[in-house]
Amino acid sequence: MQSSRDAVAPGDVVRANGGGGGNSTNLVNGNNGEWDSPMFRLAQNQFLLAAEIMELDDNLRERLLFPQRTLLVSFPFRRDEYRQVETVFGYRVQHILTMGPTKGGIRYHHDVNLGEVSALAMWMTWKCALMNLPFGGAKGGGRLDPTDLSRGELQRLTRRYTSEIIDMIGPDRDIPAPDMGTDPQVMAWLMDTYSQQVGHGVPEVVTGKPVVLGGSLGRKEATGRGLVYLIQKAAEQVKLDLTNAKAVIQGFGNVASYAAEFLEDLGVKVVGLSDVTTGLYDPAGFSVMAVTDHIKQHKRLDSYPGGEKVSNRELLELPCDILVPAAIQNQITGENAGRIQCRILAEGANGPTTLEADEILSEREVFVLPNVLGNSGGVIVSYFEWVQGTQNYMWSLEEINERLHKILTEAFHRTLLRARRDGLNMRTAALIEGIRRVAEAKLSQGVFP
Ligand code: NAD
Repeated sequence: MQSSRDAVAPGDVVRANGGGGGNSTNLVNGNNGEWDSPMFRLAQNQFLLAAEIMELDDNLRERLLFPQRTLLVSFPFRRDEYRQVETVFGYRVQHILTMGPTKGGIRYHHDVNLGEVSALAMWMTWKCALMNLPFGGAKGGGRLDPTDLSRGELQRLTRRYTSEIIDMIGPDRDIPAPDMGTDPQVMAWLMDTYSQQVGHGVPEVVTGKPVVLGGSLGRKEATGRGLVYLIQKAAEQVKLDLTNAKAVIQGFGNVASYAAEFLEDLGVKVVGLSDVTTGLYDPAGFSVMAVTDHIKQHKRLDSYPGGEKVSNRELLELPCDILVPAAIQNQITGENAGRIQCRILAEGANGPTTLEADEILSEREVFVLPNVLGNSGGVIVSYFEWVQGTQNYMWSLEEINERLHKILTEAFHRTLLRARRDGLNMRTAALIEGIRRVAEAKLSQGVFP
């Protein structure tokens, strides 16, 4: 790696107070200051492992280890019961501003914290760079349980959250999108709130909005579709015949439900499914359409009449060829990785696998599609949506899916080539591909002033 001494004054050492402190080669085990959380430590340690292998300059390592901009707000939120006013914490984090505007989803979840949002923003940076998209990574969140809110409450909360972060976002500044707990409707309210404030309609300020408001065809299903394109590539590598394969999928939200549908279209039997209420197992395979209809009507899986109930932990260890974690982080750990039975682990979720689990999975030769590669279909079609919005294009679904497939296939082969050539696992190979691009951009840009 070229030295960043080209870009900074000789002998200049960047030190982060409370962070790596000039010694970022070591894994981060705490002392991350404001950002500290298990998920942020996971993202940092994945980055540091890759940085070590690519011999990334220390100054750059320090700069990339923490987000560049962080906003933490607390704001009042009025429930339908008029006199009940609650305080909500909201976040927006921009990891790297060098690559263009920043891009990343908004998560509503009762456990969201600054460290989690920062980890998600960092992964967005590597993901966009791996896909050669002109964005840095960002993420936002609200610490709340969206399943507990009426439609009116969700709208009020979203509008207030948007006005709290409004100075940070914009179509050429930072462009939000859906993540866990948010959907096209939430994006529509976010876009409308922003547009009301600036005085004219600005659909390009968000992606993942309804098509009728300028959303892109194919965006809603893009993350699941992209993951399944990659599973097809992985299956070729491990010589798995998908028409005889079984899949277990954790979660049944946006990513999981579309992944299930597209896998079923390829002839894969979906034998395990789950949501926050339960896991379900049926060795004969579920009808994905029947489960989807049930969720539309009843919102939860524990009332579904088919399959045997299992816990979300048991679900991960069911016999299958393809395991798709597509819910929350920290699911496959040093404790259960040895019992996981799949040949392909396709990460729809962000951060589902710990570093200890990665080692075990590598030893067991499980083919891993890491989150920065596996779930990038969403941000790729978000990029298409942003381009269509800023340029007033209207692309057909065929054009969208064709371009998505091309970008993902190229990124898959680049990652696989690096993994094979350098004897790395797919995660580290994908991270190195992304980090290298960001590091080069940082070096070209130099340090201001
Ligand atoms: P979603 O809100 O649509 O669905 C989340 C699903 O996870 C639901 O079925 C929910 O019941 C389930 N769940 C929640 N808590 C759980 C728990 N403790 N145990 C088991 N299941 C639980 O969210 P989504 O948009 O599908 O996102 C899922 C994951 O995919 C997240 O990690 C997110 O960051 C990642 N992701 C999403 C997108 C996107 O385009 N939506 C893009 C990239 C990555």
